[in-house]
Amino acid sequence: MKIIADLHTHTLASSHAYSTIRENCEIAKERGIKVIALTDHAPLMSDAPHEWHAANQHILPQVINGVCVLKGIEADIMNTKGELDIPDYVVGKLQWIVASFHGPVFPPMSEEDHLMAIENVCKNPLIDVFAHLTTTSYPFDYKEAAKLFSKYDKIVELNEASLRSGASKRENAVRLFNECKSEGVKIAIDSDAHYCERIGDFSAVLDVLKEVKYPEELIISTDLDYIINRANKNHPSAPKIDNSIMRI
Ligand SMILES: [Zn+2]
Ligand SMILES: [Zn+2]
Repeated sequence: MKIIADLHTHTLASSHAYSTIRENCEIAKERGIKVIALTDHAPLMSDAPHEWHAANQHILPQVINGVCVLKGIEADIMNTKGELDIPDYVVGKLQWIVASFHGPVFPPMSEEDHLMAIENVCKNPLIDVFAHLTTTSYPFDYKEAAKLFSKYDKIVELNEASLRSGASKRENAVRLFNECKSEGVKIAIDSDAHYCERIGDFSAVLDVLKEVKYPEELIISTDLDYIINRANKNHPSAPKIDNSIMRI
């Protein structure tokens, strides 16, 4: 399996991360990653840049140092209604949106509340990916959630940083991704890198996927065309990405 994407990455614009876009792209290129998503935090996290940071990404080239760069954000799920902390005018400019539960914005609630929030985020067509869903503080019914991801065609991320830090237990990841496999859910392999050297480093994730035996055709991180087509289709008001942009 050749992984060519890392669709959850931070730059020093999120103040608890430490690398520039250029540094992230340099490491991505070295490791054969053809596309990364810039997903710095949305405004309600204390370390987040001002909302103008996300809105102004259209000034960046689509390809930096030979790597396709999706202009995105890691949005915070604010409540059980599935509302997110991104103003509408910013949402419309973005090419890739990751949604996360973060304690400072959505303090852990009951399993039913977590599932309700997930269901309502699923109904938002602009959300591409659920990030680090296997963290221990946000339990929910994995089987029911997998049915929702399949029904609404949402991508579920397996997140290297949360597995390594212990925020996600390995057994949670095995359980969730077994349910996702049963429901034919598409998944992404992401670093959630906060330093450039972590871009494209997926060893803990690959260890889980090996155990689960996830079907390769459901892993979007190997498929550049799928990623670019999805970004274009799901974000019609964002700058269009030319499909031939990474062809040699
Ligand atoms: Zn996060
Ligand atoms: Zn993150």
